[in-house]
Amino acid sequence: MYDIAIIGAGPAGLTAGIYARRAGKSAVIFESSGIGGQIAQAGHIENYPACPDILGIDLSNAMYEQAEKLGCDFAFDAVTGIERIDGGFNVKGEYESHEAKTVIIATGAYCRHLGVEGEERLIGRGVSYCAVCDGAFYRNKEIIVVGGGNSALEDAVYLTAYAKKVTLIHRRDEFRADKAVIEEALKNPRIQTVMNARVVEIIGEDAVSAVKVAHNDGISETVPTDGIFIAVGREPKNRAFASLISLDESGYVKADERCLTTCDGIFVAGDCRTKEIRQLTTATSDGTVAALAAVAYLKKIES
Ligand code: NAP
Repeated sequence: MYDIAIIGAGPAGLTAGIYARRAGKSAVIFESSGIGGQIAQAGHIENYPACPDILGIDLSNAMYEQAEKLGCDFAFDAVTGIERIDGGFNVKGEYESHEAKTVIIATGAYCRHLGVEGEERLIGRGVSYCAVCDGAFYRNKEIIVVGGGNSALEDAVYLTAYAKKVTLIHRRDEFRADKAVIEEALKNPRIQTVMNARVVEIIGEDAVSAVKVAHNDGISETVPTDGIFIAVGREPKNRAFASLISLDESGYVKADERCLTTCDGIFVAGDCRTKEIRQLTTATSDGTVAALAAVAYLKKIES
């Protein structure tokens, strides 16, 4: 039986693993997709202390190597549930399960979908949620980015390195991104903005060819495009744990800055929990807090 099972190998989970191993505890980290979570898909990261400009993928690889070198085990599997057993928990994956005395949930958050016709069918065929992953496919093409936050505006700027024209469509009359990010996007001659409008349908047989846009004044139009990047925020996927811990109405694990869940022995770290600020630095901070809370819990149950 492991001391600590960590679900998610993003910055929160990897930091928790580093702290767990440095405290002398055995740890297994489950990961269902790629190491690094959201930062693996980020381009340049400029807000992580001591790293004025680092690629997200390089930072996530460095965190992974550090955790692995310290002795964390990895289970590349999707966790489907946690059940209580004698002395701890059984963390069940699709292919493998591991028993642990404590669990840290660090599942992060996933790209929200628009939920419009054509979207699911055309994912990977012109519908993308990752500018860094798919931008290079759109060299000299015309594309659309949807959203008004930091992700959408940063994606739009990033994509101008490839696309000849980027149309940014946002449902309000103002962006919610940081001022500096907005200024950079608006001064880019390849970016055109369409405000007060929603994408209501994505059109195409084998690949995206156009989108239907509904303007808030009631007018609709079909806009031809080679691709659409959707950056409308993120949401958690914690339903598999709902039988043991409380989630809020949006599906985030209920917890405060101490990273304690409503179940003794289960802790939570990073974007998947209720919190004000979801940033890389707050995720690594949570990983630290949750791991140290788990270590204190182990000391209590073993004394
Ligand atoms: P976000 O800030 O939540 O913005 C999501 C945007 O999508 C909002 O403009 C929202 O519109 C729009 N939206 C949501 N649902 C929609 C729908 N169904 N249809 C159309 N538009 C929809 O998300 P984010 O940009 O992914 O950023 C998430 C967090 O990470 C934020 O705290 C952000 O500051 C942070 N972040 C930071 C950086 C950085 O520091 N460099 C980079 C990326 C992200 P409304 O405005 O109308 O609600």
